[in-house]
Amino acid sequence: MKHKTLKGLQDIMPPEIAIWQHVEKMAHEVFRNFGCREIRLPIIESTDVFIRSIGETSDIVEKEMYTFEDKGGRSVTMRPEGTAAFVRAYVQHHLHNDPAPQKYFYMGPMFRYERPQAFRYRQFYQIGVEAMGIEDPKLDAEMLSMLSVLLDRIGLKGLNFEVTSIGCKDCRPGHREALTDFLRDKLDAFCTDCQRRFDLNPLRILDCKVNRCIESREGAPPVIEHLCDDCSTHFNALKNNLKILNVPHTINPNLVRGLDYYTKTAFEVTSENLGSQSAVAAGGRYDSMVKDFGGPPTPGIGFAMGMERIIPLIKDAMAEPEGPDLYICPIGDAAIEKSFTLTNELRAAGLWAETAYQSTSLKSQMRKANRIGAKHVIVIGEDEIGNNAVTIKNMANKEESSSTLTAADICRIISP
Ligand code: ATP
Ligand code: MG
Repeated sequence: MKHKTLKGLQDIMPPEIAIWQHVEKMAHEVFRNFGCREIRLPIIESTDVFIRSIGETSDIVEKEMYTFEDKGGRSVTMRPEGTAAFVRAYVQHHLHNDPAPQKYFYMGPMFRYERPQAFRYRQFYQIGVEAMGIEDPKLDAEMLSMLSVLLDRIGLKGLNFEVTSIGCKDCRPGHREALTDFLRDKLDAFCTDCQRRFDLNPLRILDCKVNRCIESREGAPPVIEHLCDDCSTHFNALKNNLKILNVPHTINPNLVRGLDYYTKTAFEVTSENLGSQSAVAAGGRYDSMVKDFGGPPTPGIGFAMGMERIIPLIKDAMAEPEGPDLYICPIGDAAIEKSFTLTNELRAAGLWAETAYQSTSLKSQMRKANRIGAKHVIVIGEDEIGNNAVTIKNMANKEESSSTLTAADICRIISP
């Protein structure tokens, strides 16, 4: 029986996993500095959690969700993104009772039934942050600054931070009217999905990825020109705050997000080195979502970064994968026994130690020590056991040190 990963899925394995861990470590550090605490949520939720919040006319809900009936006849969905599930948890656990802002982060897989291509998978991993309870655009600037600090610490270069405001329910009717006026005569040029969207949710047409729709919507009025006073003041303050915090950015009035829940601030971080799948992170404000989920009106802002787009950008810059601190080459049966227990003691004492399970030639063991990148090597034979003495060889600089054959002494010489 031969099996392979499903289309659009991939195994993530060593040595690449070291880069994933590097990114996750940087994220843990930066999030701690900015006061974000980890939250781990289920991978499946009730389908309703996603439909209303992300939007019935969004690509995600219309085409991309892994939705199925469980054995109890409930419609469940494998999460296509993190925010809706987070808000479900926020309301369920009354997190609004904690002092604001409440800041959380998550890391984990998301599922979208998309057409697989470079940097686009059906299971992909996001690191996301959500910050709740503060409407002030200082928080928006703080989130963007945190993202910029993190991406910088991870080692990403050549990024562009694109920012806009997509207004609120008060700005939408005016914009919708201007947009439908613009689109009405041109509708034939758009794909059938967009023609349907015209009546249901014309804003979605601005996010369609079909080439002829992209061309035909050139010159369409952006939301930014139809902001209400409140959204306009918020956006101006955000721009100012971004300057104060030194977050390099450009204003992109044509930026729209693929999810319906966003209000006011929306942003995307793109890389010059990813071809057409250029977004490494994206996010925005969602000030009415908590209320829509039955909680008290609470503003929120968040973003998510795509791991599969970050990893290839830093792959080449990362150091070689790590090898064991020590490899023990046993020669003879007594040495095999000694190595077995010594390796165990060394591991318990904090070293990464490896040894052979059966006696083979010294030459083949040394070859193995090299292949797995051991930093130090010791050879144990009858003499070493008899004299309780061993020579530790440093594989990088070839220096040799003497030690007794005890875990404590060996550990003192080799610090991991
Ligand atoms: P795109 O425009 O590339 O489809 P999106 O707007 O659908 O992105 P979001 O829902 O905002 O993406 O998700 C945030 C980030 O998650 C994206 O910027 C991207 O880095 C990553 N991402 C989204 N979908 C995928 C996918 N199918 N495969 C890999 N990464 C993805
Ligand atoms: Mg998408």
